Amino acid sequence: MQAVIFDGRQITVNDIPKPEPPPGFALIRVLKAGICGTDLEIVNGYKGFKGVLGHEFCGIVEQSDNSELNGKRVVGEINVSCGHCNFCKNNMARHCSNRQVMGILGLNGCMADYCVLPLLNLHQVPEKITDRQAVMLEPLSAACEILEQVSLQGNEKAVVLGDGRLGILCAWVLAGLLEDVTLVGHHQEKLEKAEWRHLKTVINKFNTSEKADLIVEATGSASGFREAVSLCRPRGTIVLKSTVSSSIRIDLAPVVVNEIAVLGSRCGDFNDGLRMMLTYPDLKIERLIEAEYPLNSAVDAFRHAAETGVLKVVLKMD
Ligand SMILES: [Zn+2]
Ligand SMILES: [Zn+2]
Repeated sequence: MQAVIFDGRQITVNDIPKPEPPPGFALIRVLKAGICGTDLEIVNGYKGFKGVLGHEFCGIVEQSDNSELNGKRVVGEINVSCGHCNFCKNNMARHCSNRQVMGILGLNGCMADYCVLPLLNLHQVPEKITDRQAVMLEPLSAACEILEQVSLQGNEKAVVLGDGRLGILCAWVLAGLLEDVTLVGHHQEKLEKAEWRHLKTVINKFNTSEKADLIVEATGSASGFREAVSLCRPRGTIVLKSTVSSSIRIDLAPVVVNEIAVLGSRCGDFNDGLRMMLTYPDLKIERLIEAEYPLNSAVDAFRHAAETGVLKVVLKMD
């Protein structure tokens, strides 16, 4: 089968043997795989991962011990946990201390004709959801994680910094719950694409006299963090959503003085992403996909995804 491989230096598309699913795993024929910011960071050295890239996919179960799932269209949670450490036992399997993460840590990814994942990780995709929508479930669920971490009443004021893929998804998730959500970005086209319901968009600098209760930092830059601190009310919350390969210098004194809670936020529960997609069919999440490339053009696809101002680029295997 063909697979997109990162060898620690460069990306190539190679012919490698089809994976054999270990017990409890399913063999999945991949239909589409998304390129996300994390993949671009890996190629820049984040996590030191080598192997088949990719963790966002939609595919068809080709072979598994669960006959009901065979032939069905699925998406998959990317963290493969051990099931017996303290985190697993306490309902925090995504933080399992022995975890492998598809295409990120110790486990081959989904940018290939086939991939394997434990049956427990799979979610069947409802008929109503198209392949192009399903491939966006992983990042949408990651955005939904904010709602797991911060309890919101509905009357809070929220600001999302960063009009990249993840920033827009976070803004949509918050706008599903809150009346007052503003997305701040630097690209007119992206902000226009992000328009949905009552979500407000602002280009460049957000000036407000009334500070926000919740800020989502999705720019991944030191200036983004500084802006988040300046926009956050005392005892408010800042959620950090980007993983960046380079370290940044930040001044934490205002965080202490204003008693701001800073939360890291990573993957989410796919059930939340699926629920959001089914609740809001008008979201048309696939509008974030700017281009689809065949698997063997993955090098061009990565180059495209890394250009500034580009939203989602997807690989297609069919
Ligand atoms: Zn991702
Ligand atoms: Zn564990």
